[in-house]
Amino acid sequence: MRAAVFHEPGRIEVRDRDEPVIAADDVLVRVRAASICGTDLRIMRHGHFKIPAGTPRVLGHEVAGEIAAIGADVTDFRVGDRVSVTPNVGCGHCDMCRRGLNQLCPTYDAFGITLDGGFEQYMRVPGWVLDRGNLHAVPAGMSFDVAALMEPAACCLHGQRAVNVGPGDDVLIIGAGPIGCLHTVIAKRRAARRVIVANRRQSRLDIAGLLGADELVNVTERDLHEEVMRLTDGRGVDVVITCVSDPAVIASATDLLARLGRLNVFSGLGDAARPQIDVNALHYRELVMTGTTGASNTDYRDVLDMFSGGDIDLTPIISGRFSVDEIHGALEHAASGAGMKPLIAFEGD
Ligand SMILES: [Zn+2]
Ligand SMILES: [Zn+2]
Repeated sequence: MRAAVFHEPGRIEVRDRDEPVIAADDVLVRVRAASICGTDLRIMRHGHFKIPAGTPRVLGHEVAGEIAAIGADVTDFRVGDRVSVTPNVGCGHCDMCRRGLNQLCPTYDAFGITLDGGFEQYMRVPGWVLDRGNLHAVPAGMSFDVAALMEPAACCLHGQRAVNVGPGDDVLIIGAGPIGCLHTVIAKRRAARRVIVANRRQSRLDIAGLLGADELVNVTERDLHEEVMRLTDGRGVDVVITCVSDPAVIASATDLLARLGRLNVFSGLGDAARPQIDVNALHYRELVMTGTTGASNTDYRDVLDMFSGGDIDLTPIISGRFSVDEIHGALEHAASGAGMKPLIAFEGD
């Protein structure tokens, strides 16, 4: 089978590899779509603390496919089932796992990090991963491409739950990349009154508009603070979700919030400088500031439900389908920010 194997920062090689051998409680997934995430790009550039130097690893944690083989002891799934995975596999017994927060498990495993991920034709899902509830049936009618997007979508749902996005809220999403666009769709689904999306690239804003954003602010042409105050009669928005890795954007978010406003720092900053937060704004206007990372298995199942009707077309978020042999082009496409989200696609029969 073909596989794109990460060896060290800057080096991914596409090669023929033996198909994974499965044990009696394992499942073998024939991958059909695996989308590329910022995390893949970061690992490609800098490696990952959970990938020891010299360990070859297949990246890709936003994966959907069909079951090609099951071990003799597997009873919950059958060959031919359409499935996807939640990447973060909790230990199953720590405080976070007991609360169902597998994404916060301090000793997690993850597809594309400690387990081979989806940039290969066949991916093994070990039995202990099945036991933790990380393999999911994809709803009938949902394409593999869209199913791959359910992982970042689950992270967005998790993020919106943390700041209670709901009816009556004016929500500002800063960043209109794939994540900002998924936030747009989900905020509308959660009945936000108005979704305002800010970005530098008009092409990305247009896609956010296509997906239901009520107001688009191109920050190369207009001042975001002025626009937010104009749109909200000087009140500010109820929720800000930052989907860009820019300390200045996070620092300015408190100025955009109404009283009792909520801020979710959704994108991490990596090694970027620590932003200065206006703590007096938090104090005197009773703002709430939080961040979220990843999603639990429950968030994931809920987002599958949310999109199972197929009434929202998420395909504008996918801007390129590449074969695994073209992975370098796909990574470049993702890094350029020119399009939206590329995915690695494997043809069916
Ligand atoms: Zn991801
Ligand atoms: Zn745990």
